[in-house]
Amino acid sequence: MLAPWDSCFDCATIGLSCGRLCKAVLLNLGSWMRIGMGYDVHRLVEGRRLILGGVEVPFEKGLLGHSDADVLTHALMDALLGAAGLPDIGQQFPDNDPTHAGADSLKLLGEVLRLVKKEGYTPGNVDIVIAAQEPKLAAYIPAMREKLANVLDLPVSAVSVKPTTTEGLGFVGIGAGMAAWAVALLEPMSD
Ligand SMILES: [Zn+2]
Repeated sequence: MLAPWDSCFDCATIGLSCGRLCKAVLLNLGSWMRIGMGYDVHRLVEGRRLILGGVEVPFEKGLLGHSDADVLTHALMDALLGAAGLPDIGQQFPDNDPTHAGADSLKLLGEVLRLVKKEGYTPGNVDIVIAAQEPKLAAYIPAMREKLANVLDLPVSAVSVKPTTTEGLGFVGIGAGMAAWAVALLEPMSD
């Protein structure tokens, strides 16, 4: 049995034909896949709807922003753009552009997917953390995953959304805002 870092040279060509994880295969996997991360914060204010992952969550406050301020979707977009080596959402969708006022962030996510595909990549899976002290988000997570998966054309199992509080600490803990982190894996398009 060969260790995964040894070259086995059983393959006539570099690939998975011999079924072993030889060095050549591992090196190739490294050049096929791309990873990116995104981070976003929005302030919580009265008189705004709370939209997270394209889902309206009933709450007395909402996130402040030029678009619908969907902090979770914004972090995801920056992860996808970062993985493709593209400029971030601040440059793609400037907040001084009136066409993006009140924009549906799921539509912007669709635009990000188009940009990523233009670079020859397609998402493999994404993982998102949303930090909010209140309200409780667990009941809305399945709907968020489904909406994001629909836009990205991925199975729901490839779209993870994990809510967390910050145990009352920091700006999230005192309810001044929400933060989100996302990572995204891109794979080359097969055609
Ligand atoms: Zn944002």
